[in-house]
Amino acid sequence: MEDRFGHRISYLRVSITDRCNERCQYCMPLEEQEWLDREDILTYEEILRVIRVGTSLGIRKVRITGGEPLTRRNVTWFFEELQKIEAITDTGISTNGTLLARPTREGPSYAEKLSAAGVRTVNVSLDTLDRKQYAETTGRDLLPDAIAGIDAAREAGFEKIKINSVLMRHRNEHELWDLIEFARERDLLLRFIELMPVSTTQVLTEENFLPSGEARKLIEFRLGKLIPRPDIRTNGPASYFEIPKTGQIIGFIGAMTNLHFCETCNKLRLTCEGKLRPCLGSHLEFDMREVLRNPEMSDEDIAKFFLHVVDRKPEMHEFRDNYQPGRKMIAIGG
Ligand code: SAM
Ligand code: SF4
Repeated sequence: MEDRFGHRISYLRVSITDRCNERCQYCMPLEEQEWLDREDILTYEEILRVIRVGTSLGIRKVRITGGEPLTRRNVTWFFEELQKIEAITDTGISTNGTLLARPTREGPSYAEKLSAAGVRTVNVSLDTLDRKQYAETTGRDLLPDAIAGIDAAREAGFEKIKINSVLMRHRNEHELWDLIEFARERDLLLRFIELMPVSTTQVLTEENFLPSGEARKLIEFRLGKLIPRPDIRTNGPASYFEIPKTGQIIGFIGAMTNLHFCETCNKLRLTCEGKLRPCLGSHLEFDMREVLRNPEMSDEDIAKFFLHVVDRKPEMHEFRDNYQPGRKMIAIGG
């Protein structure tokens, strides 16, 4: 699939739930909790059908997200089924990590089950190593669980474990070095992410926004001039740098300040209620659920729907023109 601007689409990010065991202020504010009804959420079978049809159009990589994907019932069964779709060559999960070390009903931990089900990459969100700050940012005192989850993931033998830290002035700007050290000690790939206007809360103020360029300067102040590593690419918009003394690689995802952010976009998003979104930073979304639940619609119709949405993919996101919190990340699937 290719859009009007030459973006080749091979990556589908799928949210399987709007629920979460945390309440990150920038994602799901405490004050607002209207869960979707169960029948409004796509079933696993419906999601697998969308992915299967997607592969016939070139989708090769899938990342499962939420909400917190590990809170959905029978999630390990879903990953096992996903593995059976042969054309998918890369399966990943985004998680807050707090449940990874927990045993599943069958015994092994979630981390072990996911690894056995062929998940290659695990992205764990961790913005701070300070327990009090963690509780404040996420609304839950679960830092020890998140760290135990990261350690369980390391033991479970995934190909890649990434740590994603959202940059926030006053909240974690003084901890960037500690996060780097945490990742170095555990051989994890750390990426700093600029706060995006996808929420409805007071955290998303211009004052709390810490640009990645400024974070870089803060890091360089203590660790020396970062060496750009344009040769390193993951399946996304991160820019990577090497820390001179240790050789450690860190990344920056600057949706707001990196003007080339959208050039290599290869992604579509499926929300948990079945909206196909061509771009995180645009309000455009199209109702795939209606097609899926219409008995007269075939896989071919689903394929046509994919192409229709890809055709409407914008050239770039609209965040910069409009730093106005709109739809919450929890509802979209980050
Ligand atoms: N619950 C999982 C987790 O926390 O990783 C998966 C879903 S979460 C919505 C996916 C990612 O979106 C997390 O790394 C989170 O930090 C990020 N995120 C949520 N709201 C954001 C915002 N307003 N700006 C930037 N990143 C955000
Ligand atoms: Fe939950 Fe992840 Fe959103 Fe935090 S960022 S509220 S952990 S979905």
